[in-house]
Amino acid sequence: MCAARDDGSEAGAQIVEVLAPVAVDAAYSYLAPPAMRLQPGDSVIAPLGKREAYGVVWSVEPAPGPRGNLKSISQRLDRPPLAEKLRNFIDWLARYTLTPRGMALRLATRAAEDAGPETARTLYRATGKPPARPTPTRARMLEAAEGGVAYPKKALAEAAACSTGVIDALVDEGALETVSAPPEPVQRPLDPCFATPALEAAQQAAADALAEALASRAFKPFLLEGVTGSGKTEVYFEAIARALQAGGQALVLMPEIALTTQFLERFAARFGEKPAEWHSGVTARKRARIWRGCATGDARVVVGARSALFLPFRDLRLIVVDEEHDGAYKQDDGVSYHARDMAVARARFEEATIVLASATPSIESRVNAMRGRYKHLRLDSRARARLMPTLEAIDMRAEGPPRGRWIAPRLALAIGEAIARQEQALLFLNRRGYAPLTLCRVCGHRFRCENCDAWLVEHRFRRALMCHHCGHVERRPDVCPECGAEDALAACGPGVERLAEEAATLFPDARILTLSSDFPGGAERLRRELEEIAKGAFDIVIGTQLVAKGHNFPHLTLVGVVDADLGLGSGDPRAAERTFQLLNQVTGRAGRGDKPGRALIQTFQPGHPVIAALLSGDAEKFYAQEIAIRERAGLPPFGRLAALIVSAKDAGVAEAHARALARAAHELQPSARYRVAPPGAFATEGEIALFGPAEAPLALIRGRYRFRLLAKGPRGADMQAFLRDMLATGPKERGGVRVQVDVDPQNF
Ligand code: ADP
Ligand code: ZN
Repeated sequence: MCAARDDGSEAGAQIVEVLAPVAVDAAYSYLAPPAMRLQPGDSVIAPLGKREAYGVVWSVEPAPGPRGNLKSISQRLDRPPLAEKLRNFIDWLARYTLTPRGMALRLATRAAEDAGPETARTLYRATGKPPARPTPTRARMLEAAEGGVAYPKKALAEAAACSTGVIDALVDEGALETVSAPPEPVQRPLDPCFATPALEAAQQAAADALAEALASRAFKPFLLEGVTGSGKTEVYFEAIARALQAGGQALVLMPEIALTTQFLERFAARFGEKPAEWHSGVTARKRARIWRGCATGDARVVVGARSALFLPFRDLRLIVVDEEHDGAYKQDDGVSYHARDMAVARARFEEATIVLASATPSIESRVNAMRGRYKHLRLDSRARARLMPTLEAIDMRAEGPPRGRWIAPRLALAIGEAIARQEQALLFLNRRGYAPLTLCRVCGHRFRCENCDAWLVEHRFRRALMCHHCGHVERRPDVCPECGAEDALAACGPGVERLAEEAATLFPDARILTLSSDFPGGAERLRRELEEIAKGAFDIVIGTQLVAKGHNFPHLTLVGVVDADLGLGSGDPRAAERTFQLLNQVTGRAGRGDKPGRALIQTFQPGHPVIAALLSGDAEKFYAQEIAIRERAGLPPFGRLAALIVSAKDAGVAEAHARALARAAHELQPSARYRVAPPGAFATEGEIALFGPAEAPLALIRGRYRFRLLAKGPRGADMQAFLRDMLATGPKERGGVRVQVDVDPQNF
C-alpha cells in the first residue's frame, strides 16, 4: 500500500533512525508505516528496551522490502519538527564535548518533554447576578470582575486581594461565570520602531555594521566592546530591530537571568512589549509554550540563560551574548560546555549574526578580534557625555581600619558624604555569609565540611555554619566540639553579613541592604529589592558579585571595593583576568545617573598589575600583558586544554583509574590528528602533553574524591580524537568511578 506524497513520489514503509534523549550516542533503526510519512526532525514515540520512549527522527530512508527484524514506531507526536540546522548543531556539540548524542539532544528537547499538551484557559466574568450571601470580600471580587471583561483566576484573586476559593464560591452561586479562551499568545507583537533612540556617532557606526551583517544572512561574529554605560545595549537593540523587520528571530543570552527585570522593562520601552523570558525559574508550562513558539516563529525575541541556546528557532538571525566574559556561561553539571563558545557555533550553523558584548571581554574573544575572526566594534566613552567614575586606591597597609574592622576611614568618610548628599553607596565584597572561617581560640579547631575539602562559612543570621560547595548546613555550636571551651569560637575575616554589621555601627541611621545569593525569598524578592535600590530606597547596599552585574542604579555614586585582592592570590591562571573584569564591572556601577561617580578600592597591593591597570583605566595594557602571558605558556586561546575529572567515593580507586587512563593515553600511536608527548618529558612542537593525575582543584566534593588529568595541546591538534581514543582504550567506568570530560575548562 502506497500513499502519494506532496512531492508526487510514492512513499512506502520507511526505515527511520531515531535518537532518544538519553545517555546513548547511537540512533536506533525502526520501521515506520507508510501513513506516518515521517521526516527528519519529527517527534515520535517508539519502543526502547522494555518501555515506550520519546525520540526524534534523525534520518529517513525508504524500506527496501519487508524488515521483520525491526520494531515499529508507535506514534508520531504533534510537535513542530527540529530543524536540520539544530540537528546538525546537536551532532556537532556532542562530538565537541564528547557527550553522548542523546544527552546533547536532551538539552534541546527537555522543555518540550516536561510539559503536557497545550490546554485552553478558563477565564472568569461577572454575570450581573448578585451573590446569595454578600460579604465585603465578595463585593470586592465582583467589583474587580466588573465591566464585562473575563479575567484569569489568579489575576482576579490578586486584584481583589482574596483567595481563589471566593471565585469558586461565586461561580457556584451564579454571580461569576467561566469562559473558555484559547491559550495566551507566547509573545505579543513587538514593534521594531516603537521608540527608536537617536544613536551617538560611535553607536551608529556599530549599529550600521551589524545591520550590514544581518542583511548578508551569513555567519558574522562581532565583539562589541564598550565601557560600562557606553550604550552597548542600545546598539544591539538596533540589531534586534533589524532582525525583526526582516521577519527573523533573535536570542539574547544573559549570565544572571533571574535579575533581568530592568532589562525586560527597557526592552519593553524600546519594542512596546517584553521579550519571551527563558530560564529555570519559568514554569514548565510556560517553557513548553515558548519552546513551541520558537519553532513556529511566534516567539520573536527570547532572553534567556545559557539553556536558551538549544531552543528550536525557526529563523534565528541574531544571537547576542551579553557580558560575554562572565563565568556563569560555563556549565559544569551534566554536559560541560561554555555557552558563549556554543553560541558562536550555533550562529555558524544558523548562518546568523552573533554579537559578544562586554566592557571587559574574555582574553579568548579579544584574541579572536585581534586575529580578525571577530569584527571588533568599540564604544570608548559613556553615552550622553557621562563620565567614567574616578578611581582611587586605599592602601590598606598605610590607611587601613583598626583590627577586626574592614572599612577604612577614607571610605567611611566618602560613604558619609554620599549619604549626606542623599546619594547611594555600594560596598562590594565577594564573600557570602558572616565570616569565611570559624576557629577555636583555645585549641585552634577549625570547622570543616564533612563532604568537601572546604571550610564551613558562618552565616550569623541563620545561626549556622554552611558549606558553599555542597550546601551542607550545621548549627553553630556554643562550645568548641574539640576541646569543649566555652565562648572561644572566633569568626575570622569578613563576609557581607559582617560588613553590614560594621556599616550599621558606623552609620546607625542609614538604610542598609545586604544582597547575596543567600538572600531569602528567592529571585522574585531579589528583583523587587533591586527595583527598590534603583528607586533610591537604600543608602548603603552591601553585596557580592550579584550586585556587580549589569544593573543601573541612578542614585548610586560611590562604590567601595572592600577587598580588591580577594581572588588575586588563588593561583588560578585566570585569576588576573577575572579580577580585572569583576572590578571593572562593579566600579562601573557608580555614576550611571546624572551625578558623577567615584570608586574607592581597598588593597594591600596597589602596585599589582591588575589593580594598577584598573586604576589607570588602561585596559589595553592589561590585555597586552595577559595575552603575552597566555601566548608564552601556550594557554588558550594559543593552545587547547581539556580536563578529565575522575571521581569516586574512595580516593585510591579514583586515583588508580586516573593513572590507568594516563597510561592508556601514553600508549596511543602517533597519528596525523595528534601526537602525545612521552610521560614526564617536555612536549615538543605539535605534541599533546598530559599532566597528572593530580588532586583536582577541589579534591573532595559531596563525598567524592576527585583527581584530574589535564591535556594541553597545540591549536591544530585534534583534542577530541585524542580524548576519545584514550577513553576507548583505557579502563571502563565501573565500581562507582565517574569520568567527566571538560573540553576547554575554565579553571586550569
Ligand atoms: P551599556 O550596555 O554599554 O552598559 P547602556 O546601553 O545601558 O550601556 O547605556 C547606558 C545608559 O545610557 C542607559 O541609561 C541608556 O538608556 C543611555 N543611552 C545609551 N545610548 C543612548 C543614546 N543614544 N541616547 C540617549 N541615551 C542613551
Ligand atoms: Zn561540603
